[in-house]
Amino acid sequence: MLHNKTALVTGSTSGIGLGIAKALAARGANIVLNGFGDVDGARAAIEALGVQVMYHGADMSKPAEIEAMMHAAAERFGRVDILVNNAGIQHVAAVEDFPPERWDAILAINLSSAFHTTRLALPAMKAANWGRIINIASVHGLVASAHKAAYVAAKHGLVGLTKVVALETATTGVTCNAICPGWVLTPLVQKQVDDRAAQQGISVEQATRQLLGEKQPSMQFTTPEQLGELAVFLCSPAADNVRGVAWNMDGGWAAQ
Ligand code: NAD
Repeated sequence: MLHNKTALVTGSTSGIGLGIAKALAARGANIVLNGFGDVDGARAAIEALGVQVMYHGADMSKPAEIEAMMHAAAERFGRVDILVNNAGIQHVAAVEDFPPERWDAILAINLSSAFHTTRLALPAMKAANWGRIINIASVHGLVASAHKAAYVAAKHGLVGLTKVVALETATTGVTCNAICPGWVLTPLVQKQVDDRAAQQGISVEQATRQLLGEKQPSMQFTTPEQLGELAVFLCSPAADNVRGVAWNMDGGWAAQ
């Protein structure tokens, strides 16, 4: 379905981004990987699916590096057809204890980076009259939790940006939507589980049950594979008129 298309997924060396990159590659899309850590492992996983892969190590908190990545992707593949804004970080603290530099970093990586990639990808998408922009927000783009001021603010902002871009592209073949996962067991969440276990002197298993029990009625993690298939749907012709939605996949979290 996505043969001859190019998907750029920010933060795709791990977790949800890698899951989405794999699902798009399995449908034939060439992939631009980005992120830190195990680059070789991510590259090998995508190459095994028989598509072309490019990696760019842009730091998503730095607009000049984002611009360099978008230009490099266009140079290699002609244009970015599918843009998945996924890179994200977390910091958990009460507002009065929240380190200002963590606030700035979360806003830059989780929100402003999507503005920069989107403004740079849109002209070529509009010229081709086809494009998909998928913003990986969070259930925290819809509801709040204590101690996550920067994350919740950034994710609500990302849902807002999604709606504006959807309106500005509404009469074109470009769509923009957000995906709002609940808990997904990636390194980002494993750290929160481990911190909870250490703080309360309980096992990791108990901390996991506690974490799910507080918020996610299904008591099951959403998986990167499930999120990948939702992204594939949003890239399909069936989703041509899905515009500006914030689609939660959260085990019932936001239904409460
Ligand atoms: P993860 O830590 O497994 O992956 C994050 C990715 O972003 C990695 O590839 C990392 O290298 C990259 N990254 C971090 N900082 C970067 C930077 N400055 N520049 C470029 N890349 C950078 O986390 P994840 O759980 O897969 O999260 C992916 C996205 O999904 C995030 O936006 C997160 O907020 C969102 N999300 C996660 C959950 C969850 O439960 N895990 C739930 C809702 C939303």
